[in-house]
Order: sequence, then C-alpha cells, then structure tokens
Amino acid sequence: MKAYRGRFAPTPSGPLHFGSMVAAVGSYLDARSRGGDWLLRIDDLDPPRVMPGAADAILRCLEDFGLHWNGEVVFQSTRSEAYRDALERLRAQKRVYPCGCSRKDVEEAAMAAGMDGPVYPGTCRNGIPPGREMRSLRVLTDNNPVEFEDRLQGPVRQQLAAEIGDFVLWRIDGIFSYHIACVVDDADSGITHVVRGADLIDSAPRQIYLQRLLRLPTPEYLHLPVAVNADGEKLSKQTLASAVDSGNAAGTLDRILQFLGHTPPPEAADGGVETILSWGIRNWNRELLPRLRFAAPYSGTRADR
Ligand SMILES: [Zn+2]
Repeated sequence: MKAYRGRFAPTPSGPLHFGSMVAAVGSYLDARSRGGDWLLRIDDLDPPRVMPGAADAILRCLEDFGLHWNGEVVFQSTRSEAYRDALERLRAQKRVYPCGCSRKDVEEAAMAAGMDGPVYPGTCRNGIPPGREMRSLRVLTDNNPVEFEDRLQGPVRQQLAAEIGDFVLWRIDGIFSYHIACVVDDADSGITHVVRGADLIDSAPRQIYLQRLLRLPTPEYLHLPVAVNADGEKLSKQTLASAVDSGNAAGTLDRILQFLGHTPPPEAADGGVETILSWGIRNWNRELLPRLRFAAPYSGTRADR
C-alpha cells in the first residue's frame, strides 16, 4: 500500500475561522491516524482574493493549534511554470481552445443553469466570434460520466459537458484556474488522500477529468460537512465568520471534533492541544462523521450536550 500523504490547502483570504479549521483538523486527523504525512499548501493564486499577512497568520494559527505539517509549505503563487507545462500538454492534445466570452456573454448564451454557474454552451469551440478577443483558455469536456466514490459522501457522478460545460483553465490576466493548479500540485506533492470541505465536492469531477487527461493519479477523496451559520450560509470572510481564537485552541478543537461526530472526554479537552489532538488521532473514526454536505456547529456548552 502506498504511504498516506494528505494536505490542507487554505486560500489566504483572511484568518482561519471555524469552517476552515474543520477542514484543517479533519485532514490532519485522517492523515495522522493512518501514520501519514500532512502537507500544507497556500492557495494564493488569485491576487484579489489574497489578504496581505493572511498566509503568515494561518501558519501561526496552525502552530498554535498543534497542527504541525511535514516539509516545506508550497505557495501556489510560485508554481506558475508547472501549471503552464500542464496547460501546454493539454494544448498539444488539442483539448484546449481560446474563448472570447465575458462572464456576461456566458450568462446570456447559456441554455442551462448548471451546478456551478451557467453551463458554457461551447460558443468558441470553433473559433472566437468576430469582434471578440481572447479572454481565457477552456478545456473541451464531453458527456462520458466522471464517477468516483467519496470516502464519506458515497458515489458522485457528473457529466461535465451537460452539467458544467467546457471550463476555464487560464485567464488572459495570467491567472490559472483552481482546478488545474490543484491537480498539478496534488500530483507533484504525491498526495494520496484529499480531505476537504463538501463545498468543493462538485469540483472533484473536473479535477479527476484533468488528472485523466494529464495521466496523473487520482487521490482518494473525502468531503467533510461544511459549517454553516444559523441562516444556512457557509462560514467565510463574506459572512463575517470570526477568526478562531488561539487563546482557546483546545476548546475549539473540542468543538470541531464534536462537529465531526466525535466526543472527546472532558479531560482530553482540558489537557491542552497536544492531549486533545492525540485523543483525536487515536479515536478518529470515519464511521462517526456526519454524512452531510452542510451542518451548523453545535453552539451549546459541553455540560448540556
Ligand atoms: Zn467563448
């Protein structure tokens, strides 16, 4: 069996909040409970989304929470050459074509709503219409179903051409898409297991499709429930989710374990981060994880649990 290599890959758009910490802790415990490595990658590809100082704050926060990673931190902003190579390989296969459509053009031309925005109807497959200029490069998709078995959520199946459409790999401003970057980085880091939030489950088939075109291995996927607030909104910078408090790291780890269906004894939570994390590593059990895509964190205290 191949040695387990997992990872956590936050976007440095702000400090870690409860929701992002769930993905950090879940991926960490899944890796460590199997004697695996746990790597850290900073997904800082898209400059407008990057908040200055946030990457450093994330590293410090993970250390405060006792979540120590293996090896060097990978920053996606330094990896353009690897992404460009992958894009060139897809171009050589004639799988990539230039598109001159703006977001508005796609909205107007789309025939279907799609699960991740309007489905691109293939406007530029045979060339950019007159009067438009190249804005992006898209990958040709088809309707052969992409299927995988999520380790928590079960079978997932998508027909990319019908449900997503040809998707963007590169934008004219020089930004590579999350999908191609993620696939190239996971492969170059030898990642065997991806554990992340279920808000990304619909993007997994796009990534598997790219892995197949690029002849890269497909890791095992496990998509954890995403923490939502009382209004059902994902906790994020946009919903003003507050940063996790490093001063009460053990208490937060206790709440995260409960959110993930685990019940640490009070003495584990009272013993500090190392104690509760080692309890988590010993007791991590995939069967206990809630098989949900979205869930609200329990807001009460241990006493009334
Ligand atoms: Zn187009």
